[in-house]
Amino acid sequence: MSRPTQQETRTAFDAGLPPLRGIEHVVVVGAGLAGLAAAYELTRLGTKVTVLEANRLPGGRTRTLRAPFSDGLYAEAGAMTVTTRCDYTLHYLREMGLETEPSDLVGTDFSYYRCGTRFRPDAIAGHAALLGLKPDEKDLTVREMVARYVTRPNDEIGPEVRAPAWTSSPRLRELDRIPVREVLADRGASVGAISLIEPLFMEMQGGDLGAASAMAWARYEAGPRSMSDPTTRWNKIKGGTDSLARALAGAISDRIRYRAPVVRIAQDEAGAQVTFLDRNRLRTLAADRVVVTVPFAAMRRIDLAAAGLPAEKHATMRRMRYASATRIFLQMRKQFWPERQLMLSTDRPICTVRDATPWRIGGRKILECWLGGWFAQAVAGMGREERIDFALGEVEDLLPGARENFELGTSFAWDDERYIAGAYLLPEVGHSELMERARRPEGLIHFAGEHTAYEPNGGSMNYALESAIRVLLELAGPR
Ligand SMILES: Cc1cc2nc3c(=O)[nH]c(=O)nc-3n(C[C@H](O)[C@H](O)[C@H](O)COP(=O)(O)OP(=O)(O)OC[C@H]3O[C@@H](n4cnc5c(N)ncnc54)[C@H](O)[C@@H]3O)c2cc1C
Repeated sequence: MSRPTQQETRTAFDAGLPPLRGIEHVVVVGAGLAGLAAAYELTRLGTKVTVLEANRLPGGRTRTLRAPFSDGLYAEAGAMTVTTRCDYTLHYLREMGLETEPSDLVGTDFSYYRCGTRFRPDAIAGHAALLGLKPDEKDLTVREMVARYVTRPNDEIGPEVRAPAWTSSPRLRELDRIPVREVLADRGASVGAISLIEPLFMEMQGGDLGAASAMAWARYEAGPRSMSDPTTRWNKIKGGTDSLARALAGAISDRIRYRAPVVRIAQDEAGAQVTFLDRNRLRTLAADRVVVTVPFAAMRRIDLAAAGLPAEKHATMRRMRYASATRIFLQMRKQFWPERQLMLSTDRPICTVRDATPWRIGGRKILECWLGGWFAQAVAGMGREERIDFALGEVEDLLPGARENFELGTSFAWDDERYIAGAYLLPEVGHSELMERARRPEGLIHFAGEHTAYEPNGGSMNYALESAIRVLLELAGPR
């Protein structure tokens, strides 16, 4: 299968991956989950594989921060949640002997902070004028707004919006030409109502509803990862999300080279050549095939002049958009807020403040401050100390007592990561034109990673892993 479909990928994975013929050495670029899963499966199939990773750690965008926190506390800089329908993630967790537990995002004590006032989702009627809600919206709960403006009209798009495997349709392609904000406004949502339901669109955090593709959004919101689906069970990996990457990397440790950024990929009649930095030297490996899992935002660090890629591939790489996200973590001496599981959505630069350690009763706590979009970029431009001071100033306004209880802090800006350069895929209007081109193999070079997913909104561990399996089938098929 040189171009397997999503369903074929799943069927082949369940049945057992086919062996590879005529391929002796594969170079995998990147040891995020896509690269690790590809290398793990290649090793099991008996194919020689070399993974080149720019960072000193595996895992890419699964990064658990353990320092500088006290008492064994930790926080997630990247991926946090796994749903019961993330089949590929659950498969590899089982394979690695890892477990899940309920996510911190479940059962939170959620409240809004808008226009200087704090209120709960069941008390919006009292703030209708302040929020600019229309008369027929003011007696709705937020869930009812979601049903009116999101779930019910999305269901009317057609069965394809909920189908287990992604299929495009004329209606979905039409939606791909319209930004989410316009669709919500057409459905009658006021600016105030949009501001209340937007925090539920997890896939849009750090994005701009005025630019985001309504096709990708509708598919996500109708799917198993949506916060508006009450049947979804949100879990997290016990012990920290990085456990999965560490376990996979541990199983193939002799195949991975860290601090080995790839700087050039070329291919010709004789095969492919991958050049990387090996301490202060340039080294080139010959390969029968190359699997590139580098986020497209970071591809500009690799010279592709002799890679033989068509112009459309270069254009696709340039056009793929990523969200900006910066997380700031503040370790507090004790819990000084009343909520058992604080989650505060604000209209200020820090769009969410939450208790990142709700499972810990008594003692120190970590408050997480999430910034997206241009706020994330602006704060990423600050020095490390300035970021903490900025966050403390903001949090003190929202939760008085922050400065008094603050012990230490750290931050993580995904835009700053030289070899990642963004948080996750943010499908914008016109995204459907990029999808097939992004994952299409080009000669001996194959592409994996969340940005090559079958799903338009593929920014998740599950779809990064799925993309690795798809590449395994490409490798097993005819060229
Ligand atoms: C803030 C945030 C929150 C998220 N929340 C969730 C969530 O709750 N649930 C979920 O499922 N997913 C979530 N995600 C998405 C998920 O983390 C990613 O989709 C997934 O981890 C991507 O894996 P990948 O292998 O495609 O890419 P990456 O993890 O980015 O791996 C790519 C690797 O390539 C390496 N690399 C890049 N350039 C080079 C080079 N030139 N040479 C060598 N190596 C190179 C990088 O260092 C990196 O290790 C989140 C992501 C972020 C950032």
